Amino acid sequence: MLRLSLLAPGLFSRRRFLGTSGVAVAGAALAAPHEAAAQAPQSAKAGEQNPSASDPGPENRALKELNPNSFTPPSTDHKLGKTFWSSFSAMHRRIQDGGWSRQVNVDDFPISKQIAGVNMRLTAGGIRELHWHVADEWSLMLYGNARLTALDFDGTPYVNDVTAGDLWYFPTGVPHSIQGLGPDGCEFLLVFDQGDFSEDDTTLLSDWMIHTPPDVLAKNWGVAPSALEPLKNVPPDGRYIFQAPVPGPLQQDKQAVTRDGGMPTEAFQFHMMQMKPQKSTRSGQIRIVDSAVFPAAANIAAAHVTVKPGGLRELHWHPNADEWQYYIAGKGRMTVFFNAATARTQDFNAGDVGYVPQTLGHYVENTGDTDLVFLEMFKTARYHDLSLNDWLTHLPPELVAQHLGISAQTLDAIPRANLGVLPA
Ligand code: MN
Ligand code: MN
Repeated sequence: MLRLSLLAPGLFSRRRFLGTSGVAVAGAALAAPHEAAAQAPQSAKAGEQNPSASDPGPENRALKELNPNSFTPPSTDHKLGKTFWSSFSAMHRRIQDGGWSRQVNVDDFPISKQIAGVNMRLTAGGIRELHWHVADEWSLMLYGNARLTALDFDGTPYVNDVTAGDLWYFPTGVPHSIQGLGPDGCEFLLVFDQGDFSEDDTTLLSDWMIHTPPDVLAKNWGVAPSALEPLKNVPPDGRYIFQAPVPGPLQQDKQAVTRDGGMPTEAFQFHMMQMKPQKSTRSGQIRIVDSAVFPAAANIAAAHVTVKPGGLRELHWHPNADEWQYYIAGKGRMTVFFNAATARTQDFNAGDVGYVPQTLGHYVENTGDTDLVFLEMFKTARYHDLSLNDWLTHLPPELVAQHLGISAQTLDAIPRANLGVLPA
């Protein structure tokens, strides 16, 4: 110890100082003094002012600056909860004529066991090929316009146009396509209710057709084998995304798809941003879209959250599913409490993905000076969240005081409802 203090006197005295002040604070509150002293060196509370926190070696400066709460964690962070941050911006883009896609799934983001996400762009006329897959697909249009087609289980056809702020939902096995419209195509987020879902493993129309014996296909369609010559132009892995002309008027396509003169279904899309938020305070709004308001969304529930600067998506948890998040705008931070004295804080920016395992307590705070907008996504038919405040204010007050030592006055100040975004 003598030797260490001679080599790094500042470091030694700083540690001792932190330990002493930790004892004073903790002694006045709850913890036993020896516990506080043992934890003190981990709590780099003074952050960059603490010489023990200096970082003279190599640094990816851009990444460090995006993650201030990892570089200098809040003193309440402890042990290492699993990484719950990822980002589409770090992922490979599969670029083809007509658009591109990129994905975040459990292969790259091990905590995300229940949900995978895909981000896709289609040019005006660009087509995401007719296909289906083994997971349910929930989607939010982020930019621009697209035309969707599908066929419902009962044989009802579907064709419709969606615009930024609209959702769609295609259940497992329902065949569908997406095509960018004018003036500049579209970009959207796809959410799948399987953590290991991959966009590279969907049933593509063209891929299937060129891997079916031509004589069988000719028999199936009731045509001569020579009619199948054009299929030789299909790439060996199918088309996936390809460029085509912008389609004609929607009304014309609706006419074309009708069965026995019946109207196409409207069941697959939902105008989320035209819906009044279920929760609204001076600090933000929450729109909840689950199967109660959008019956097609049988297995994926969503909340679209806006937190104004200075606001907080309050301390809460979800009883029935993991939460997968997509950050649309702004800057925020989230601490996930992993139980057993384990807590971790990570920062989020537009394009990032977050994850909170089922039942774990968390909050999301706006750390920027613009609105923080994000999606909470769940593999469940119904959205449920439980609010710390709502719980604590609906218990015998003595019981709460006995746990936390807080005064009756403090307990009285706590909002007596699940308000969603605070301060109300
Ligand atoms: Mn799909
Ligand atoms: Mn949540």
